[in-house]
Amino acid sequence: MRERSLTEIITMSTPVEPGSNNVLLQVTDLRKYFPVRRGLMATVRGHVKAVDGVSFEIRRGETLGLVGESGCGKTTTGRSILRLIEPTGGEVLFNGSPVLHLADEELRKIRKQMQIIFQDPYGSLNPRMTVGGIVMEGLIAHGMYSRAERIERAQALLARVGLDPEHFYRYPHEFSGGQRQRIGIARALAVEPQFIVCDEPVSALDVSIQAQIINLLSDLKREFGLSYLFIAHDLSVVEHISDRVAVMYLGKIVEQTTSEELFRNPLHPYTKVLLASVPSLETREEKRHVIEGDIPSPLHPPPGCPFHPRCPEAMDICRTEVPTTIQHADGHSVACHLYTMDVAPVRPGN
Ligand code: SF4
Repeated sequence: MRERSLTEIITMSTPVEPGSNNVLLQVTDLRKYFPVRRGLMATVRGHVKAVDGVSFEIRRGETLGLVGESGCGKTTTGRSILRLIEPTGGEVLFNGSPVLHLADEELRKIRKQMQIIFQDPYGSLNPRMTVGGIVMEGLIAHGMYSRAERIERAQALLARVGLDPEHFYRYPHEFSGGQRQRIGIARALAVEPQFIVCDEPVSALDVSIQAQIINLLSDLKREFGLSYLFIAHDLSVVEHISDRVAVMYLGKIVEQTTSEELFRNPLHPYTKVLLASVPSLETREEKRHVIEGDIPSPLHPPPGCPFHPRCPEAMDICRTEVPTTIQHADGHSVACHLYTMDVAPVRPGN
């Protein structure tokens, strides 16, 4: 009998060309508020609005980079979409199915198509399970394939992500951070997902390893027609993998456009300072601490534009009026008073 190739073993959904106007994920006005309790009676004293009215869409075969400083709500956004935490409100449509309203069994089925790669390659793998057991866990949970096929598939996936199929029998503590992240990627791929939330998948890795993992994720996206929500705090990390980028600040998206347009023509002052803090490729010189001040507490956000206490271009109106999101050109949206003249507001989801 003819020996099957790796690609034949790792069957996946049909690849789709990036840019096809075929929406896979539609997120509209997503909100996640965490109650803040104080006192003996644990009375609710307020809410931390970790995600506050976030809207975007991801087309088939597309990567949306979601960028912002730590604590801006990007990880909460990713986990709310997958319902790893329950959102407070909003709408998430995946292939047209309303994810936030699905009952347990329907949610379990759709989760097979929506996977996550975690930030921490050390904490996200069960140290008591073999690598093979970790990669096959989802296949067993979803009743996919026979036992022999699961083993064959897991070993083929390990080879595809750059590991040795013999690593199947070893344990996570025997691997480096980069290798563990490859195990996490194989685990996410095992159940043939269409969409993966990559939650800061390289931020815990050395710079040289980061490039390898980003290249691997790019190759897998093309090969299997995957769509990613790629979360990072550093714009340089998302530049090459993202088709479009959304910049998040204090629970809200403040700018969203194609990757090329964002790097060529950033509009929002926060995006500009994020770009200015990207290390120079030529000199590898770190340009940190460019952004003045700390990100404000989401429990007590500043009035008006939440970025105004740190904004080098703040005006009087910024201290009192929340800027509306406006469409600048060709889908380039921005929430900033500098661009509110003579332009119509954008509906959530645009
Ligand atoms: Fe800066 Fe004002 Fe724009 Fe906010 S609205 S980013 S404070 S210029």
